[in-house]
Amino acid sequence: MLTPDQTKELKTILEADLTRLGDSAHKTMEFTMDRDRDRIGRDSMDEATEEEVYSTQLRLADRESFLVTKIREAMLRLDAGKLDECEECSEPIGFKRLLARPVTTLCFECKSAREQVEADDRPE
Ligand SMILES: [Zn+2]
Repeated sequence: MLTPDQTKELKTILEADLTRLGDSAHKTMEFTMDRDRDRIGRDSMDEATEEEVYSTQLRLADRESFLVTKIREAMLRLDAGKLDECEECSEPIGFKRLLARPVTTLCFECKSAREQVEADDRPE
């Protein structure tokens, strides 16, 4: 069970993550618009390089929107007082683990048991 202070601290982290991701999603949008505008009457840029940059941006945007969903879900669990409840064994997830990865839904033991790195890791 999280204390009110811990709940508040986790909420602050989740909100900051959401804001940061929201900002970069906006930047990706601008990038896409610039690209379309640049295309008109200009072929000097290497097409292959351009495609590469563009698809990297899209992959990042995909990952970001996935993370935004995870963060929103974590906020709902936090509001419901269930953020620290492991979805596998219902044991409490350690506060330190939640601080490092507030979007996690598994305690350390269950996470380790799955033996795979999942996308609930926080962005670099
Ligand atoms: Zn567990």
